[in-house]
Amino acid sequence: MITDLVQIRLLGEKKREDNLRFRRFLKSHDHSDRILRRIAEDVEEQIDCTVCANCCKVATAIVTERDVERLARHLRIPPAKFLTNYTTESEEEGRVLRRTDEAGCVFLDGTACTVYEARPDACQRFPHLVRGAGSIASRMWQMVDRACYCPIVYNSLQAFKVELGFKR
Ligand code: SF4
Ligand code: SF4
Repeated sequence: MITDLVQIRLLGEKKREDNLRFRRFLKSHDHSDRILRRIAEDVEEQIDCTVCANCCKVATAIVTERDVERLARHLRIPPAKFLTNYTTESEEEGRVLRRTDEAGCVFLDGTACTVYEARPDACQRFPHLVRGAGSIASRMWQMVDRACYCPIVYNSLQAFKVELGFKR
């Protein structure tokens, strides 16, 4: 299992073309989502997200109205204040948590999420391999990028390829 983030970035980029081909392969071949989910669950169990937190550093976190209510309650502030202080509007994704390129998410402290119990649904389900709407194949369009920064995605895609006999 590869968890070193420098290696993940290099290998994810090196396998970008391969992963793009695998994405097309998944769409056009019969496979069992149940088996792929089980493989991804197995990978997840072997990786400690609390020492990684790379997604909190590099990815945006979408917030829904329900997330805003929960987080505002958690922080004991009115929802309107939460929206102003901790979120911003993104053209592509809508309402997201504030972040900077240097520090990542506004709620990240080192590798710890300071609002963990109340974190947005999107954070709870990340990287959306085991948990997510639709089939794994339909979510694959996001996974080629995520394989460059998320050890769960990188290792799961490699294991999927072996399981399905995908050849380079
Ligand atoms: S989901 Fe991926 S990137 Fe995020 S903390 Fe876990 S292993 Fe790291
Ligand atoms: S809310 Fe917590 S889990 Fe979500 S991106 Fe921010 S630090 Fe990470």
